[in-house]
Amino acid sequence: MNFEFTNEQVMVRKSIQRFVENEIAPIAAEIDANHRFPEESIKKLGKYGFYAIPYSTEYGGADGDEISKAIVIEEIAKKCGSTAGISSVHYLPIMILDKYGTKEQKEKYMNKLMTAEYIGAFALTEPSAGSDASNVQTTAVLDGDEYVLNGTKCFISNGGVADFNIILAMTDKSKGIKGMSAFIVDKDTPGFNIGKIEDKLGICASATAELIFENCRVPKENLLGKLGKGFIMAMVGLDSGRIGMAAQALGLAEGAMEETIKYLKEREQFGKPLIKMQGLQWYLAEMEAKIEATRNLVYKAAYLKDAGKPYTKEAAIAKLFASETAMFVTHKAVQMHGGYGFMKDYPVERMMRDAKITEIYEGTSEVMKIVIASQITR
Ligand SMILES: Cc1cc2nc3c(=O)[nH]c(=O)nc-3n(C[C@H](O)[C@H](O)[C@H](O)COP(=O)(O)OP(=O)(O)OC[C@H]3O[C@@H](n4cnc5c(N)ncnc54)[C@H](O)[C@@H]3O)c2cc1C
Repeated sequence: MNFEFTNEQVMVRKSIQRFVENEIAPIAAEIDANHRFPEESIKKLGKYGFYAIPYSTEYGGADGDEISKAIVIEEIAKKCGSTAGISSVHYLPIMILDKYGTKEQKEKYMNKLMTAEYIGAFALTEPSAGSDASNVQTTAVLDGDEYVLNGTKCFISNGGVADFNIILAMTDKSKGIKGMSAFIVDKDTPGFNIGKIEDKLGICASATAELIFENCRVPKENLLGKLGKGFIMAMVGLDSGRIGMAAQALGLAEGAMEETIKYLKEREQFGKPLIKMQGLQWYLAEMEAKIEATRNLVYKAAYLKDAGKPYTKEAAIAKLFASETAMFVTHKAVQMHGGYGFMKDYPVERMMRDAKITEIYEGTSEVMKIVIASQITR
Protein backbone atom coordinates (compact mmCIF):
# COMPACT_ATOMS: atom_id res chain seq x y z
CA MET A 1 0.00 0.00 0.00
CA ASN A 2 1.16 3.50 -0.78
CA PHE A 3 -0.28 6.47 1.08
CA GLU A 4 1.98 9.03 -0.64
CA PHE A 5 0.76 11.48 -3.27
CA THR A 6 2.76 11.49 -6.53
CA ASN A 7 4.96 14.44 -7.48
CA GLU A 8 2.29 15.54 -9.99
CA GLN A 9 -0.42 15.43 -7.33
CA VAL A 10 1.76 17.42 -4.92
CA MET A 11 2.29 20.02 -7.66
CA VAL A 12 -1.45 20.22 -8.32
CA ARG A 13 -2.01 20.83 -4.61
CA LYS A 14 0.62 23.57 -4.47
CA SER A 15 -0.73 25.36 -7.51
CA ILE A 16 -4.39 25.24 -6.43
CA GLN A 17 -3.36 26.39 -2.91
CA ARG A 18 -1.67 29.42 -4.46
CA PHE A 19 -4.70 30.15 -6.60
CA VAL A 20 -7.08 29.81 -3.64
CA GLU A 21 -4.95 32.07 -1.47
CA ASN A 22 -4.79 34.81 -4.12
CA GLU A 23 -8.15 34.58 -5.85
CA ILE A 24 -10.72 32.70 -3.78
CA ALA A 25 -10.04 33.30 -0.07
CA PRO A 26 -10.07 37.11 -0.36
CA ILE A 27 -13.62 37.18 -1.78
CA ALA A 28 -15.19 34.19 0.00
CA ALA A 29 -17.04 36.22 2.65
CA GLU A 30 -18.15 38.89 0.16
CA ILE A 31 -19.64 36.52 -2.42
CA ASP A 32 -21.47 34.69 0.38
CA ALA A 33 -22.87 37.91 1.84
CA ASN A 34 -23.97 39.24 -1.55
CA HIS A 35 -25.09 35.86 -2.91
CA ARG A 36 -22.87 36.65 -5.89
CA PHE A 37 -21.87 33.91 -8.34
CA PRO A 38 -18.04 34.18 -8.57
CA GLU A 39 -17.88 34.03 -12.34
CA GLU A 40 -14.39 35.55 -12.46
CA SER A 41 -12.95 32.78 -10.22
CA ILE A 42 -14.64 30.02 -12.21
CA LYS A 43 -13.37 31.42 -15.51
CA LYS A 44 -9.83 31.64 -14.11
CA LEU A 45 -9.97 28.11 -12.70
CA GLY A 46 -10.86 27.03 -16.24
CA LYS A 47 -8.21 29.19 -17.85
CA TYR A 48 -5.47 27.76 -15.60
CA GLY A 49 -6.53 24.21 -16.48
CA PHE A 50 -7.98 22.99 -13.17
CA TYR A 51 -11.19 21.70 -14.77
CA ALA A 52 -9.23 19.88 -17.48
CA ILE A 53 -7.23 17.75 -15.05
CA PRO A 54 -8.97 14.35 -15.25
CA TYR A 55 -9.76 14.32 -18.98
CA SER A 56 -7.84 12.99 -21.96
CA THR A 57 -5.64 15.26 -24.05
CA GLU A 58 -7.74 14.57 -27.17
CA TYR A 59 -10.00 17.56 -26.51
CA GLY A 60 -7.52 19.58 -24.46
CA GLY A 61 -7.58 17.73 -21.15
CA ALA A 62 -4.51 17.28 -18.93
CA ASP A 63 -4.69 13.48 -18.68
CA GLY A 64 -4.52 13.73 -14.90
CA ASP A 65 -6.45 11.68 -12.38
CA GLU A 66 -9.43 11.65 -10.05
CA ILE A 67 -7.13 12.06 -7.05
CA SER A 68 -5.89 15.39 -8.45
CA LYS A 69 -9.47 16.51 -9.12
CA ALA A 70 -10.34 15.71 -5.48
CA ILE A 71 -7.27 17.69 -4.35
CA VAL A 72 -8.52 20.74 -6.30
CA ILE A 73 -12.00 20.59 -4.76
CA GLU A 74 -10.63 19.93 -1.26
CA GLU A 75 -8.28 22.92 -1.39
CA ILE A 76 -10.98 25.28 -2.71
CA ALA A 77 -13.41 24.10 -0.01
CA LYS A 78 -10.92 24.92 2.75
CA LYS A 79 -11.61 28.58 2.02
CA CYS A 80 -14.89 28.73 0.10
CA GLY A 81 -17.69 26.16 0.14
CA SER A 82 -19.60 27.97 -2.60
CA THR A 83 -16.75 27.95 -5.12
CA ALA A 84 -15.97 24.32 -4.27
CA GLY A 85 -19.63 23.40 -4.81
CA ILE A 86 -19.82 25.24 -8.13
CA SER A 87 -16.63 23.49 -9.22
CA SER A 88 -17.64 19.99 -8.21
CA VAL A 89 -20.98 20.42 -9.98
CA HIS A 90 -19.21 21.78 -13.09
CA TYR A 91 -16.97 18.67 -13.23
CA LEU A 92 -20.03 16.37 -13.34
CA PRO A 93 -21.50 17.24 -16.78
CA ILE A 94 -17.97 17.25 -18.23
CA MET A 95 -17.39 13.75 -16.89
CA ILE A 96 -20.70 12.49 -18.34
CA LEU A 97 -20.02 14.11 -21.73
CA ASP A 98 -16.50 12.68 -21.76
CA LYS A 99 -17.77 9.17 -21.01
CA TYR A 100 -20.91 9.07 -23.13
CA GLY A 101 -20.78 11.88 -25.71
CA THR A 102 -20.36 11.39 -29.45
CA LYS A 103 -17.23 12.64 -31.20
CA GLU A 104 -19.22 15.62 -32.53
CA GLN A 105 -20.63 16.48 -29.11
CA LYS A 106 -17.18 16.30 -27.53
CA GLU A 107 -15.64 18.43 -30.26
CA LYS A 108 -18.35 21.01 -29.74
CA TYR A 109 -18.36 21.20 -25.94
CA MET A 110 -15.44 19.46 -24.17
CA ASN A 111 -12.83 22.15 -24.59
CA LYS A 112 -15.25 24.98 -23.87
CA LEU A 113 -16.32 23.26 -20.65
CA MET A 114 -12.81 22.37 -19.49
CA THR A 115 -11.68 25.98 -19.97
CA ALA A 116 -14.91 27.22 -18.31
CA GLU A 117 -15.77 29.28 -21.37
CA TYR A 118 -18.99 27.31 -20.86
CA ILE A 119 -20.31 26.51 -17.40
CA GLY A 120 -22.08 23.17 -16.99
CA ALA A 121 -25.14 21.95 -15.10
CA PHE A 122 -26.68 18.53 -14.52
CA ALA A 123 -30.45 18.42 -14.05
CA LEU A 124 -32.07 15.30 -12.66
CA THR A 125 -34.16 16.50 -9.69
CA GLU A 126 -37.81 17.49 -10.09
CA PRO A 127 -40.51 18.47 -7.60
CA SER A 128 -41.66 14.82 -7.41
CA ALA A 129 -38.32 13.17 -8.21
CA GLY A 130 -35.79 13.84 -5.44
CA SER A 131 -34.31 10.81 -3.69
CA ASP A 132 -36.52 8.74 -5.99
CA ALA A 133 -34.75 9.81 -9.16
CA SER A 134 -36.67 7.20 -11.16
CA ASN A 135 -39.83 9.31 -10.89
CA VAL A 136 -38.77 11.91 -13.49
CA GLN A 137 -41.84 13.41 -15.20
CA THR A 138 -40.12 15.64 -17.78
CA THR A 139 -40.75 14.21 -21.23
CA ALA A 140 -38.80 14.28 -24.48
CA VAL A 141 -40.77 13.33 -27.58
CA LEU A 142 -39.19 12.83 -30.98
CA ASP A 143 -40.82 15.05 -33.61
CA GLY A 144 -39.08 14.87 -36.97
CA ASP A 145 -35.42 15.72 -36.41
CA GLU A 146 -35.97 17.23 -32.98
CA TYR A 147 -36.83 16.16 -29.46
CA VAL A 148 -39.49 18.28 -27.75
CA LEU A 149 -38.92 18.69 -24.00
CA ASN A 150 -41.64 19.54 -21.48
CA GLY A 151 -41.33 19.62 -17.70
CA THR A 152 -39.70 21.32 -14.71
CA LYS A 153 -36.41 20.64 -12.94
CA CYS A 154 -35.79 22.09 -9.48
CA PHE A 155 -32.79 22.87 -7.24
CA ILE A 156 -30.36 22.81 -10.16
CA SER A 157 -26.84 23.98 -9.29
CA ASN A 158 -25.29 26.42 -11.76
CA GLY A 159 -28.89 26.72 -13.02
CA GLY A 160 -29.40 29.93 -14.92
CA VAL A 161 -25.69 30.56 -15.36
CA ALA A 162 -24.87 27.32 -17.18
CA ASP A 163 -24.33 27.38 -20.93
CA PHE A 164 -24.37 23.58 -21.19
CA ASN A 165 -27.14 21.64 -19.43
CA ILE A 166 -27.57 17.89 -19.21
CA ILE A 167 -31.29 17.22 -18.79
CA LEU A 168 -32.77 13.86 -17.84
CA ALA A 169 -36.16 13.23 -19.43
CA MET A 170 -38.51 10.33 -20.15
CA THR A 171 -38.49 9.21 -23.78
CA ASP A 172 -40.75 6.23 -23.01
CA LYS A 173 -42.58 6.26 -19.69
CA SER A 174 -43.91 2.73 -20.17
CA LYS A 175 -40.36 1.40 -19.78
CA GLY A 176 -39.71 2.96 -16.36
CA ILE A 177 -36.05 3.82 -15.78
CA LYS A 178 -35.18 2.17 -19.11
CA GLY A 179 -37.26 4.89 -20.76
CA MET A 180 -35.14 7.73 -19.35
CA SER A 181 -32.67 9.52 -21.63
CA ALA A 182 -30.23 12.41 -21.34
CA PHE A 183 -30.15 15.51 -23.53
CA ILE A 184 -27.83 18.43 -24.05
CA VAL A 185 -29.71 21.72 -23.87
CA ASP A 186 -27.88 24.95 -24.70
CA LYS A 187 -28.54 28.04 -22.62
CA ASP A 188 -30.55 30.08 -25.10
CA THR A 189 -32.69 27.32 -26.61
CA PRO A 190 -36.24 28.64 -27.17
CA GLY A 191 -38.68 27.06 -24.73
CA PHE A 192 -35.99 26.71 -22.03
CA ASN A 193 -36.56 29.23 -19.24
CA ILE A 194 -35.20 29.84 -15.76
CA GLY A 195 -37.82 29.85 -13.00
CA LYS A 196 -37.32 30.41 -9.28
CA ILE A 197 -33.82 31.26 -8.09
CA GLU A 198 -33.44 29.70 -4.64
CA ASP A 199 -32.46 31.68 -1.52
CA LYS A 200 -30.43 29.25 0.58
CA LEU A 201 -28.99 28.47 4.02
CA GLY A 202 -25.47 27.94 2.68
CA ILE A 203 -23.29 27.90 -0.43
CA CYS A 204 -25.02 31.23 -1.02
CA ALA A 205 -22.73 32.30 -3.86
CA SER A 206 -23.72 29.27 -5.91
CA ALA A 207 -26.71 29.60 -8.21
CA THR A 208 -29.57 27.16 -7.58
CA ALA A 209 -32.52 27.43 -9.93
CA GLU A 210 -35.63 25.92 -11.37
CA LEU A 211 -35.39 25.04 -15.07
CA ILE A 212 -38.62 25.11 -17.09
CA PHE A 213 -39.10 23.40 -20.44
CA GLU A 214 -42.11 24.36 -22.53
CA ASN A 215 -42.07 22.78 -25.98
CA CYS A 216 -38.31 23.19 -25.94
CA ARG A 217 -36.97 21.74 -29.19
CA VAL A 218 -33.45 20.34 -29.38
CA PRO A 219 -31.88 18.65 -32.42
CA LYS A 220 -32.00 14.87 -32.17
CA GLU A 221 -28.16 14.95 -32.24
CA ASN A 222 -28.40 16.39 -28.70
CA LEU A 223 -29.39 13.00 -27.31
CA LEU A 224 -26.47 12.15 -25.01
CA GLY A 225 -25.41 8.52 -25.01
CA LYS A 226 -27.91 5.86 -26.02
CA LEU A 227 -31.69 6.21 -25.96
CA GLY A 228 -33.05 4.81 -22.68
CA LYS A 229 -29.69 4.89 -20.90
CA GLY A 230 -30.20 8.19 -19.08
CA PHE A 231 -30.83 6.69 -15.64
CA ILE A 232 -27.71 4.53 -15.77
CA MET A 233 -25.66 7.49 -16.99
CA ALA A 234 -26.99 9.64 -14.15
CA MET A 235 -26.13 6.97 -11.57
CA VAL A 236 -22.60 6.48 -12.98
CA GLY A 237 -22.15 10.26 -13.04
CA LEU A 238 -23.34 10.59 -9.45
CA ASP A 239 -20.97 7.83 -8.29
CA SER A 240 -18.12 9.92 -9.59
CA GLY A 241 -19.66 13.21 -8.41
CA ARG A 242 -19.86 11.85 -4.86
CA ILE A 243 -16.07 11.65 -4.64
CA GLY A 244 -16.04 15.37 -5.43
CA MET A 245 -18.74 16.08 -2.86
CA ALA A 246 -16.78 14.10 -0.26
CA ALA A 247 -13.66 16.14 -1.12
CA GLN A 248 -15.73 19.30 -0.72
CA ALA A 249 -16.86 18.17 2.75
CA LEU A 250 -13.28 17.19 3.66
CA GLY A 251 -11.97 20.62 2.69
CA LEU A 252 -14.67 22.38 4.69
CA ALA A 253 -13.80 20.34 7.78
CA GLU A 254 -10.07 21.00 7.34
CA GLY A 255 -10.67 24.71 6.81
CA ALA A 256 -12.77 24.95 9.97
CA MET A 257 -10.11 23.03 11.92
CA GLU A 258 -7.37 25.45 10.78
CA GLU A 259 -9.46 28.46 11.76
CA THR A 260 -10.25 26.95 15.15
CA ILE A 261 -6.67 26.14 16.10
CA LYS A 262 -5.62 29.67 15.09
CA TYR A 263 -8.42 31.17 17.19
CA LEU A 264 -7.77 29.02 20.26
CA LYS A 265 -4.10 30.08 20.25
CA GLU A 266 -5.08 33.76 20.20
CA ARG A 267 -8.01 33.83 22.62
CA GLU A 268 -7.31 33.78 26.35
CA GLN A 269 -9.74 33.00 29.18
CA PHE A 270 -8.98 32.15 32.82
CA GLY A 271 -5.50 33.60 32.29
CA LYS A 272 -4.35 31.24 29.54
CA PRO A 273 -4.92 30.59 25.85
CA LEU A 274 -7.98 28.46 25.10
CA ILE A 275 -5.74 25.98 23.25
CA LYS A 276 -4.40 24.89 26.66
CA MET A 277 -7.84 23.80 27.90
CA GLN A 278 -8.00 20.03 28.00
CA GLY A 279 -11.74 19.97 27.32
CA LEU A 280 -11.19 21.81 24.04
CA GLN A 281 -8.16 19.68 23.15
CA TRP A 282 -10.41 16.64 23.37
CA TYR A 283 -12.77 18.23 20.87
CA LEU A 284 -9.80 18.94 18.57
CA ALA A 285 -8.60 15.34 18.87
CA GLU A 286 -12.04 13.99 17.95
CA MET A 287 -12.25 16.39 15.01
CA GLU A 288 -8.81 15.42 13.78
CA ALA A 289 -9.57 11.69 14.03
CA LYS A 290 -12.68 12.15 11.88
CA ILE A 291 -10.82 14.33 9.38
CA GLU A 292 -8.01 11.81 9.01
CA ALA A 293 -10.49 8.96 8.49
CA THR A 294 -12.33 11.09 5.91
CA ARG A 295 -9.09 11.84 4.04
CA ASN A 296 -8.41 8.13 3.71
CA LEU A 297 -11.95 7.36 2.53
CA VAL A 298 -11.99 10.17 -0.07
CA TYR A 299 -8.62 9.30 -1.57
CA LYS A 300 -9.31 5.57 -1.51
CA ALA A 301 -12.50 6.08 -3.53
CA ALA A 302 -10.61 8.33 -5.97
CA TYR A 303 -7.79 5.78 -6.21
CA LEU A 304 -10.28 3.00 -7.04
CA LYS A 305 -11.81 5.12 -9.81
CA ASP A 306 -8.36 5.86 -11.23
CA ALA A 307 -7.48 2.17 -11.09
CA GLY A 308 -10.61 1.29 -13.08
CA LYS A 309 -12.00 -0.72 -10.17
CA PRO A 310 -15.60 -0.63 -8.84
CA TYR A 311 -16.06 2.29 -6.46
CA THR A 312 -19.84 2.80 -6.01
CA LYS A 313 -19.79 1.62 -2.38
CA GLU A 314 -16.57 3.45 -1.49
CA ALA A 315 -17.78 6.74 -3.04
CA ALA A 316 -21.03 6.49 -1.07
CA ILE A 317 -19.16 5.69 2.17
CA ALA A 318 -16.77 8.59 1.54
CA LYS A 319 -19.64 11.03 0.93
CA LEU A 320 -21.65 9.81 3.93
CA PHE A 321 -18.71 9.98 6.32
CA ALA A 322 -17.18 13.16 4.91
CA SER A 323 -20.42 15.15 5.03
CA GLU A 324 -21.17 14.04 8.58
CA THR A 325 -17.58 14.93 9.53
CA ALA A 326 -17.96 18.37 7.93
CA MET A 327 -21.10 19.01 9.99
CA PHE A 328 -19.50 17.69 13.18
CA VAL A 329 -16.28 19.67 12.77
CA THR A 330 -17.84 22.97 11.65
CA HIS A 331 -20.42 22.78 14.45
CA LYS A 332 -17.67 22.23 17.03
CA ALA A 333 -15.61 24.99 15.40
CA VAL A 334 -18.44 27.49 15.95
CA GLN A 335 -18.82 26.26 19.53
CA MET A 336 -15.12 26.74 20.28
CA HIS A 337 -15.24 30.28 18.90
CA GLY A 338 -17.94 31.04 21.49
CA GLY A 339 -20.04 34.12 20.70
CA TYR A 340 -17.55 35.17 18.04
CA GLY A 341 -18.30 31.96 16.16
CA PHE A 342 -21.89 33.06 15.79
CA MET A 343 -20.80 36.30 14.12
CA LYS A 344 -20.13 36.71 10.43
CA ASP A 345 -16.71 38.25 11.27
CA TYR A 346 -15.29 34.74 11.57
CA PRO A 347 -15.41 32.26 8.66
CA VAL A 348 -16.55 29.28 10.78
CA GLU A 349 -20.11 30.65 10.74
CA ARG A 350 -20.16 30.45 6.92
CA MET A 351 -18.39 27.08 6.96
CA MET A 352 -21.06 25.54 9.18
CA ARG A 353 -23.82 26.77 6.85
CA ASP A 354 -21.89 25.59 3.79
CA ALA A 355 -21.25 22.14 5.26
CA LYS A 356 -24.95 21.24 5.54
CA ILE A 357 -25.52 20.85 1.80
CA THR A 358 -22.94 18.07 1.58
CA GLU A 359 -25.37 15.85 3.53
CA ILE A 360 -28.12 16.57 1.01
CA TYR A 361 -27.16 16.94 -2.62
CA GLU A 362 -25.96 14.26 -5.01
CA GLY A 363 -27.86 11.90 -2.73
CA THR A 364 -28.74 12.48 0.93
CA SER A 365 -27.01 10.64 3.78
CA GLU A 366 -30.02 8.31 3.94
CA VAL A 367 -29.69 7.56 0.23
CA MET A 368 -25.94 6.90 0.73
CA LYS A 369 -26.93 4.26 3.30
CA ILE A 370 -29.32 2.71 0.78
CA VAL A 371 -26.50 2.60 -1.81
CA ILE A 372 -24.01 1.08 0.65
CA ALA A 373 -26.54 -1.48 1.91
CA SER A 374 -27.49 -2.46 -1.63
CA GLN A 375 -23.83 -3.12 -2.40
CA ILE A 376 -23.22 -5.34 0.61
CA THR A 377 -26.48 -7.31 0.49
CA ARG A 378 -26.41 -8.32 -3.18
C1 LIG B 1 -28.52 23.53 -3.00
C2 LIG B 1 -28.96 22.33 -3.77
C3 LIG B 1 -28.36 22.07 -5.00
C4 LIG B 1 -28.78 20.98 -5.77
N1 LIG B 1 -28.22 20.76 -7.00
C5 LIG B 1 -28.75 19.80 -7.81
C6 LIG B 1 -28.30 19.66 -9.16
O1 LIG B 1 -27.39 20.35 -9.62
N2 LIG B 1 -28.90 18.72 -9.94
C7 LIG B 1 -29.89 17.92 -9.48
O2 LIG B 1 -30.40 17.11 -10.25
N3 LIG B 1 -30.32 18.03 -8.19
C8 LIG B 1 -29.79 18.94 -7.36
N4 LIG B 1 -30.23 19.08 -6.06
C9 LIG B 1 -31.26 18.19 -5.58
C10 LIG B 1 -30.80 17.20 -4.53
O3 LIG B 1 -30.02 16.20 -5.11
C11 LIG B 1 -32.06 16.68 -3.82
O4 LIG B 1 -32.56 17.76 -3.05
C12 LIG B 1 -31.77 15.47 -2.96
O5 LIG B 1 -31.45 14.37 -3.77
C13 LIG B 1 -32.96 15.10 -2.07
O6 LIG B 1 -34.17 15.12 -2.76
P1 LIG B 1 -35.40 15.95 -2.16
O7 LIG B 1 -34.94 17.30 -1.85
O8 LIG B 1 -36.56 15.81 -3.06
O9 LIG B 1 -35.73 15.23 -0.77
P2 LIG B 1 -36.64 13.94 -0.56
O10 LIG B 1 -36.28 12.88 -1.53
O11 LIG B 1 -38.06 14.36 -0.48
O12 LIG B 1 -36.17 13.47 0.89
C14 LIG B 1 -36.63 14.05 2.11
C15 LIG B 1 -35.99 13.28 3.26
O13 LIG B 1 -36.44 11.91 3.21
C16 LIG B 1 -35.31 11.04 3.14
N5 LIG B 1 -35.65 9.87 2.33
C17 LIG B 1 -36.16 9.86 1.06
N6 LIG B 1 -36.30 8.60 0.64
C18 LIG B 1 -35.90 7.79 1.65
C19 LIG B 1 -35.80 6.38 1.82
N7 LIG B 1 -36.14 5.51 0.85
N8 LIG B 1 -35.35 5.90 3.01
C20 LIG B 1 -34.97 6.74 4.00
N9 LIG B 1 -35.02 8.11 3.88
C21 LIG B 1 -35.48 8.60 2.72
C22 LIG B 1 -34.21 11.87 2.53
O14 LIG B 1 -32.94 11.34 2.81
C23 LIG B 1 -34.46 13.21 3.17
O15 LIG B 1 -33.91 13.23 4.45
C24 LIG B 1 -29.80 20.13 -5.28
C25 LIG B 1 -30.36 20.38 -4.01
C26 LIG B 1 -29.96 21.46 -3.27
C27 LIG B 1 -30.60 21.71 -1.94
